[in-house]
Amino acid sequence: MLQFVSNKGGGEPVDFETAILDGFAADGGLYVPESLPKITSDQLKKWKNLDYQALAFEILSLFIDPDIVSSTDLKKILQTAYSSFEKEDIIPLYPLRSRKNTYIMELFYGPTLSFKDVGLAFLVNLVNFFLERRKERLSIIVATTGDTGPATAYFAAGKSNLDAWVLYPKALITEEQERQMTSLQETNIHPVGVSNCPDGGDDLDVVIAKLYANKDFKEKLKLSSVNSINWGRVMMQMVHYFYGYLSVVDEIGEQVNMSVPSGAFGNLCAGGLARKMGLPLKYLVVANNLNACLHRIFSEGHFTKEDIIETPSSAIDILIPYNFWRYLYFCVDQKPEKIKKWIHEFNATGTVLFDKETFASYKKGFLSNSTSNMETLAIIQEIYEAESYLLDPHGAVGVHAGDSCKENLGKEKLICFATAHPAKFPQVVQKALRTTLLPEAARHYSIEAAKRLCQKVHLCEHQFLEEALIHAMEVNWNETKEA
Ligand SMILES: *Cc1c(COP(=O)(O)O)cnc(C)c1O
Repeated sequence: MLQFVSNKGGGEPVDFETAILDGFAADGGLYVPESLPKITSDQLKKWKNLDYQALAFEILSLFIDPDIVSSTDLKKILQTAYSSFEKEDIIPLYPLRSRKNTYIMELFYGPTLSFKDVGLAFLVNLVNFFLERRKERLSIIVATTGDTGPATAYFAAGKSNLDAWVLYPKALITEEQERQMTSLQETNIHPVGVSNCPDGGDDLDVVIAKLYANKDFKEKLKLSSVNSINWGRVMMQMVHYFYGYLSVVDEIGEQVNMSVPSGAFGNLCAGGLARKMGLPLKYLVVANNLNACLHRIFSEGHFTKEDIIETPSSAIDILIPYNFWRYLYFCVDQKPEKIKKWIHEFNATGTVLFDKETFASYKKGFLSNSTSNMETLAIIQEIYEAESYLLDPHGAVGVHAGDSCKENLGKEKLICFATAHPAKFPQVVQKALRTTLLPEAARHYSIEAAKRLCQKVHLCEHQFLEEALIHAMEVNWNETKEA
């Protein structure tokens, strides 16, 4: 049976169910599988014509013990999770006309219009499945830069075993994203708008980590998280790398490039691990905006936190890409003592300079780029004018990174991930296209519908967030327990 351990080496190995329900490992580290399964090209050949859900079933089965989730239950959970998606093929691929051998992977057809739906549709339903079986309740807490919050809230809404607390940095996400959370009327959904976050969404991660470290509180409220600290997110996100690869290749074994707009590195960690499992990916391109911590890691060999810069691709305005530590674990012979030492050094000084050998090891197969605000807008406009195809600002960052790395990428096919629907960013679209009229492609009925509903939200100052949250969560927990 595959066990899960902390990438910092503390605590005992746990089973899959515990890893999912805990979120963080006991020592504050991130759960990783004890070993990575290997995929052969024969397996890939067999999977070539599977639809998204059937492929997901095959890949997830490599990590999930059937004694914990039976095949029948796993299929049912996948069925429930993806029935809310707008397109039957879940994540369609669009071949760009303005660039050769380049495809857009449209990861935004879930109910809240971003790639977060892809991971959270499955993970929230899985958590709920475990809770129903155990007859237990749990409080999920997540931090969002605009997309994790709506997706978590949507999938948790109305599930009586769950309370979802979604923290967002007020004024640093779009009004459309905010309303996706605050317009939900279900009593188990608790959006918290936090004012004056000096480091944006990263500030909220810090508070969540503190609540986790508060053992009494964590036990009492049965705290868990479905941010990409949760192994379930990373595992589910592997599927779209396999799906994209199998969709575009003529022959198994052919190499493919992928460009991924990145913030916390949860998506790319999944891609890097998929390649380590045997998926023939040539380069993974780390597409950053001006908040370029990952670009510094991959081009200069150091992990350094800098101040936040506001950009049109606000969902990736992230300063600390914590999932890099999870990927790095697999690049240093799974030696947790190294990860522990680096994280300690980073927390103490705000920077880690990696030794040459480590840098070479994790950099293998990665290219990186940092896209400016002007460049982001220019790509949206260029592609819209060339072929009436409207990218959201994150998709634009991905395409721009692909363009910038073109020479190194070579002739192989390139898949650029479009991680959000443009309807979540109407003001950016207007600015990019220099118009006050919003094109049809930047509208979505669900966004329009949310505008006609009352908003329900807790508001709070960053400076008092921890105590305010403890208070609000305790009151709610006690009230719903009595009811
Ligand atoms: C979260 C998000 C990303 C970044 O994903 P990470 O896993 O944090 O790197 C990219 N684009 C959009 C639209 C997102 O919401």
